[in-house]
Amino acid sequence: MEEAGYKRFKIEPKPAPHVYQIPNKFDVSARKLRLAAMLVHEALEYRLNKEVVLSRPCIYGVFGGRFGGFKPLKHKCVGCMRCVQEYPHIMTVKQSDSYKRLGMKLRPGRSQSRAWATKARLQGTGLTACGPTCQR
Ligand code: SF4
Repeated sequence: MEEAGYKRFKIEPKPAPHVYQIPNKFDVSARKLRLAAMLVHEALEYRLNKEVVLSRPCIYGVFGGRFGGFKPLKHKCVGCMRCVQEYPHIMTVKQSDSYKRLGMKLRPGRSQSRAWATKARLQGTGLTACGPTCQR
């Protein structure tokens, strides 16, 4: 016998597929020859210590795939630029072209937006960034 009054719904949750696949924000790439050279160098220097040789700077797991830095998992990149700071001669991270085509712009970092705001303010006053006595 069914009770009268309030009855709670029970809806089973299940993952829904994306209606539209959003492209990766960042395009991560490594210079493969330099990466291979660095791996060989580290393997020799650290005597094949697997833990050291296979440790990578990305905490988001971009290089955690089967082929590591040779085939980065671009969808995991958040654009923190740590890999570029640590290996500037090997890594390149840029905004992906397919993401740009969506018409979305990445927000600038805090220091960048501050610089833009200062520049806009100075343009309004007719002053330059180096001050009212600037000789430029
Ligand atoms: S930019 Fe940051 S998140 Fe992207 S691959 Fe480099 S370390 Fe990983």
